Amino acid sequence: MFIEIEELEKAFHIPEPWYIDQCKFNDELQQLDVFVKFRKRGLFACSGCGTENQPVYDTADENRTWRHLNFLEYPCYIHAELPRTKCNHCNTIKRVNVPWAIKQRHNFTLYFDALIMTMAKDMPMNAIARFIGEHDTRLWRILHYYVEQAIEVQDLSHVTKIGTDETSSKKGHNYVTIFMDADQKVVICATKGKNAETVKVCKEHLETHGGHADNIKEVCIDMSPAFIKGFEDNFPHAAITFDKFHVIKNINEAVDEVRRKEQKTCADLKHTRYIWLKNEINLNEEQKKSLDKLKDCELQTAKAYRMKVCLQEVFRYPASIAPMVLQDWIQWGLRCRLEPMVEVAQMIQKHYKGIVQWFTSQLNNGLLEGVNSLIQAAKRKARGYRSVDNLIAMIYLIGGKLKFNYPTPKWTLRS
Ligand SMILES: [Zn+2]
Repeated sequence: MFIEIEELEKAFHIPEPWYIDQCKFNDELQQLDVFVKFRKRGLFACSGCGTENQPVYDTADENRTWRHLNFLEYPCYIHAELPRTKCNHCNTIKRVNVPWAIKQRHNFTLYFDALIMTMAKDMPMNAIARFIGEHDTRLWRILHYYVEQAIEVQDLSHVTKIGTDETSSKKGHNYVTIFMDADQKVVICATKGKNAETVKVCKEHLETHGGHADNIKEVCIDMSPAFIKGFEDNFPHAAITFDKFHVIKNINEAVDEVRRKEQKTCADLKHTRYIWLKNEINLNEEQKKSLDKLKDCELQTAKAYRMKVCLQEVFRYPASIAPMVLQDWIQWGLRCRLEPMVEVAQMIQKHYKGIVQWFTSQLNNGLLEGVNSLIQAAKRKARGYRSVDNLIAMIYLIGGKLKFNYPTPKWTLRS
């Protein structure tokens, strides 16, 4: 019993005028070698202009190799020489493209690419590299290729609301700003840096993919001045919402500053950092007891804490009265004599319009949490990324919902 060569050609995706000449198991190298040839009178599309049915001009070419999916537990390679055509349309002599791989110089077959791309969604690249026995640089090249191709055909014409987030390739290094479609919760653009220039890059990206800056009606950002300027300059029709979690983060930092200063003279405050920062509902029994004991007393920290709770409450008020309540809070803050809290009140006053915009837009960057947590998880598993370009490619892969142009392996259709 043996497999017919035609069946093998089908299984290996080798169409006419290509054919399998030989299939050999190399016992020494422990690999399967598939030697592919082409019919001498076969016709090929010109790889320059795409004109079909060009005859072979010559075959002066060295042997090429592509790694294919494993044969059982053994690596499998396709070997072939590539003919050249002299095109009757564009009149150039070109090496033909092969149907089983992208470009002539690509080292892997389309199905091998598909395997790597599928695994890359869940596994760090260095783990895939070990598993598959290839250097990870070569595998990153696959990811970059398909991500770039997919970005090229990305359609952003529907985008009207943008949310933002940031991350870094390694802790504290190489910041990347992530712009997302706040409606569909999809990454639309990820780019280096975080300043006005970064926003301009986003605008240009949007506009080269069918979107338009004037269509953007709402954006949600943090309060960094360069970012605000970037959005005002590049998206003049967008109402800015300042991320309420960023506001809360600021006041938490202020509460903590008050506590740190006060605990030097107040022993009761030792080891209480988290009870002031967490929401009450998230405290354990002991922390809750400690908070109950301290929160209504004369401590400055307790006062700062009460101010924080009130500010959080503001976001639960109906839109009709919340802006007035926030004004009251600002006045309270400005007069409270706790320096860090006064600063928060000043900050809120300065950014008042964008903060109350939340009551209309309901936008916050926490809505994008699902995508963010996937990106964070990938970063943790990979223990950071060697290059910022790798991080960006990964962000697109995980959060971009891109349409990738590689074949779907048949095994994924069985389940
Ligand atoms: Zn041509």
